[in-house]
Amino acid sequence: MASAESVISELAEYFEGLPLWGHELVQANVIPPATIPSIMGYLYSTLFNPNLIWDEYSYRVSEAEVELCAICAQLIGYDPKKSTGITTWGGTGTNFYGIRLGIEKALPEAFAQGVRQEVKLFCSSASHYSKLNALGWMGVGTNNLVNIPTDEDNSIRIDLLENKLRQTLDVGERIACILPTLGTTDSFGLDHLERIYHLREKLVREYDLKYVPHIHADAVIGWAWAVFNDYDFSENPMNFPRRTLRSLRDVWIIIQNLHLADSIGIDFHKTGYAPYLSSLFMVKNKDDFKLIARTPDAMPYLFQFGNYRPGIYTMESSRGSGAALSALANLKFFGKQGYRALLGYIVTIAESLRLRLEQSPYGVVVNDYNHGPVTLFRVYPDTSIMPNGRPAKLETVEGTEEDAIQRVTPTQLWYNESHSKDYAEMLVRHNAFNRRVFDIMHNTMANGGCLALSLTENYRYSVGGTPILALKSFVMTPFVSEDAMTQLMHCLEKARKQAMAELSSISS
Ligand SMILES: *Cc1c(COP(=O)(O)O)cnc(C)c1O
Repeated sequence: MASAESVISELAEYFEGLPLWGHELVQANVIPPATIPSIMGYLYSTLFNPNLIWDEYSYRVSEAEVELCAICAQLIGYDPKKSTGITTWGGTGTNFYGIRLGIEKALPEAFAQGVRQEVKLFCSSASHYSKLNALGWMGVGTNNLVNIPTDEDNSIRIDLLENKLRQTLDVGERIACILPTLGTTDSFGLDHLERIYHLREKLVREYDLKYVPHIHADAVIGWAWAVFNDYDFSENPMNFPRRTLRSLRDVWIIIQNLHLADSIGIDFHKTGYAPYLSSLFMVKNKDDFKLIARTPDAMPYLFQFGNYRPGIYTMESSRGSGAALSALANLKFFGKQGYRALLGYIVTIAESLRLRLEQSPYGVVVNDYNHGPVTLFRVYPDTSIMPNGRPAKLETVEGTEEDAIQRVTPTQLWYNESHSKDYAEMLVRHNAFNRRVFDIMHNTMANGGCLALSLTENYRYSVGGTPILALKSFVMTPFVSEDAMTQLMHCLEKARKQAMAELSSISS
């Protein structure tokens, strides 16, 4: 046994070394610092321990979940009277729900009889891996995933999606779900939901389908941009800088169509600034939940009365209320205006990094067409060995008299690597170089210097099919300033120089 006091202070020690997500030099991933009201949402829920399985065990706290869904419906353009939602265990859980509803539409009675036929899930190769959890855990099988390549802007290739959907329908297989991603995890790529929606409508008519393939929008990152749905981009009343305004508008153009999806995943613990876990699954038509509901006689100890009984159709039995309370807290705390200011600000800072990289002699932004708070980039050594075996130097590197050596810009190197099979070897070498630059910065960070960035081993494939590695800065904290980006560039150049020195000591 131990005293409460000693246990409490011992617990605190487990937080030693944890990055502070609110610190401006922490740009690791889509992990926000949580607001005080949202932390209180979680604290209240633990202090009083309501259970959102039904209103008998949660009383007015149920209302928080209902209110949350109504607000989010309005935000994304669903009819609050026809739609509904539930909080659940993470963005992964939202994908489980979306895919599960789709399966039941494609294979009615699957809930009772099991999945005994081929059903396919369609999403882009840049979509989140949680689709694999869903397929595996739900017995569909991960082999039934149809991965569609992406365009330069990291959005799903609609022409290829159409081909694959047709092939599936032609052989009499069914479509479990089409799962566009609005805000991919690495690059903030946005699938063109409107075009996917019209494609689905066209195929339903053409093939005279007896079911409507479900579209679930994985918008766990991008949903927050819906706060711009009624922002006046031409008047720009919040005076966003020009570059920021363009960036916000480019995202909004796609996000404004979220309501076309049959269901949507929303993570408040990502771009909503709430603690883990705070996810919301929304359905456009609340009757969809009937497809996966159990009958009350299976649960004789519950649901004999009351008005709000989500436990009849949720995956969970007991349900904590922290997600609902903390998400609702932030919606009330920020309102649309607050979220606009937050998103506008983090995008402004991310844009400033992009500008610095563009102006640097050695860096390239590789998710150029994606206008969120995440910047994927690569850096290049002063000298690269070209496919013909000859060295080429960056334009800005000083030469010697006999130096009639070829000159390249980082953008040229990047373009060639990603677009030409001849450059595959160079791509791999530069992957290793960037990996080394990252490791140097990461070690410095662990020893208290530099800043916390992250790395993606494969943000997309080159035309030749080689994974492209990239360094990643994800700006989430509102406490970030331009100075952080000055420091980032400084650390980056130091690490690049060290990596080059190591290379030359190996070759000499
Ligand atoms: C983070 C993420 C998920 C998974 O959400 P969790 O909350 O981590 O379970 C799903 N899809 C996308 C696009 C994501 O970025």
